Amino acid sequence: MKYIFCPKCGKKLIDKYSWDEGSIPYCPEDDIMYFDTPKPCIIVAVVKGDEILLLKQSYTFKDSKVLVSGYVTNGESVEDTVYREVKEETGITIDDVQYLGSEYLESKEILMLTFMARYVEGEITKSSEVEWVNWVCLNNAINEMNEDEIGKRIVRKVLKEMGFTEDGNI
Ligand SMILES: [Zn+2]
Repeated sequence: MKYIFCPKCGKKLIDKYSWDEGSIPYCPEDDIMYFDTPKPCIIVAVVKGDEILLLKQSYTFKDSKVLVSGYVTNGESVEDTVYREVKEETGITIDDVQYLGSEYLESKEILMLTFMARYVEGEITKSSEVEWVNWVCLNNAINEMNEDEIGKRIVRKVLKEMGFTEDGNI
């Protein structure tokens, strides 16, 4: 998002030259440069044996199951976000968090950092913001995620990492 007014004091920003980035909106009052940066977000495929953790949140996709995801909060590392979001949304503990690459969502200015992780312990206890959450066979997951394009690409990477073919055969 390109800032026009200072989010702290409300004054109109001026242009200030930054060596690396060119002209940047700047508040002389607060001495802050407002860079046009994306919002970092995580999305994680949690795997347990030959199953994967999927959930349903109709405010994101009406008719599709999705992977666990959430925004990175100030003060935490991206890995912290991965552990926290899985715990908050499903109640389970994970480990072996592995980075799978990133994707940019232009419509929402989101930088999606994608991961896979291994289930360690805990029963599923869904949060109130989740309608449904459960383990789904890896070989059937893609069929249930029709609207979640990024999620499907991650599941394909997970299948490859685990030595499966796309339809779930070894
Ligand atoms: Zn200001």
